[in-house]
Amino acid sequence: MNTYTARVSRATDLTHDVRLIQLDLLAPPAIEFEPGQFVSFSVDQPGLPHRLTRPYSIVSPPARTDAIELLLNRVPGGPGSGFLFSLDVGDEVTFRGPAGTFVLRDYADRRLLFVATGTGIAPIRSMLAARLPSPTPVTLYWGLRSERDLYFQDELAALAARHPEFTPVITLSQPADPWDGTRGRVQRLIEEQVTNVDDLAVYVCGGSAMIASVVALIRAIGVCPIHREQYYKDPPPQDGR
Ligand SMILES: Cc1cc2nc3c(=O)[nH]c(=O)nc-3n(C[C@H](O)[C@H](O)[C@H](O)COP(=O)(O)OP(=O)(O)OC[C@H]3O[C@@H](n4cnc5c(N)ncnc54)[C@H](O)[C@@H]3O)c2cc1C
Repeated sequence: MNTYTARVSRATDLTHDVRLIQLDLLAPPAIEFEPGQFVSFSVDQPGLPHRLTRPYSIVSPPARTDAIELLLNRVPGGPGSGFLFSLDVGDEVTFRGPAGTFVLRDYADRRLLFVATGTGIAPIRSMLAARLPSPTPVTLYWGLRSERDLYFQDELAALAARHPEFTPVITLSQPADPWDGTRGRVQRLIEEQVTNVDDLAVYVCGGSAMIASVVALIRAIGVCPIHREQYYKDPPPQDGR
């Protein structure tokens, strides 16, 4: 792992609570990483003496080494997200990385299934850029809440038009009417559409509850490699269920 300094060169709001930032590397001037890896920021914890470390997946393709992009979800009151959302174009930041084992493997003979919720799409976007064109079919199930949470949909559609072996499915758990796209959680797509996992490899990224249920659903069908990146731990259900 190295320590990098970088300058914020772009900050784009993609939705009401998701921002894409670009960091141009200053020193060292380039970064090499595997698609799916993350970088970490050390941030102040207001009122407490020690600093916190917060990891963020690299969302840009590994072929680009002079800058990285990060996809940020705004977490109200969160020190890490608060720090990154406070950055303006021109600001300098320090981060460490790259790190992480949630990386694209060399599955020449396996179909790939990517499953993400929210900003869990970040490492998968980098992996898609590295995998496509793919020798085997690649499917993405991406869960968001409602229409106002949509982003990257044009980019994914363009990727699918260029690479017919790629099928992206964005599903909304709470769409307003009318919504003529896919409804429900990513788990429902697995229940309805995944029948055989013999030649499949699965990558799943998001919160702990989604990951646990996706892994259970896949395991109930059969045995195949499943790679996971847990962004956060969901609180236990309040009503005892
Ligand atoms: C390997 C790894 C990679 C990560 N990559 C990203 C990334 O690319 N983009 C990103 O936005 N976050 C990412 N995260 C989460 C990130 O590191 C922080 O946990 C997040 O920004 C919240 O930190 P905080 O200090 O602001 O708030 P905290 O007070 O630490 O978090 C408060 C709560 O916010 C919720 N939360 C945390 N992350 C998210 C999220 N992404 N979406 C919705 N709710 C969340 C959880 O319930 C968490 O308990 C990643 C986490 C890991 C472990």
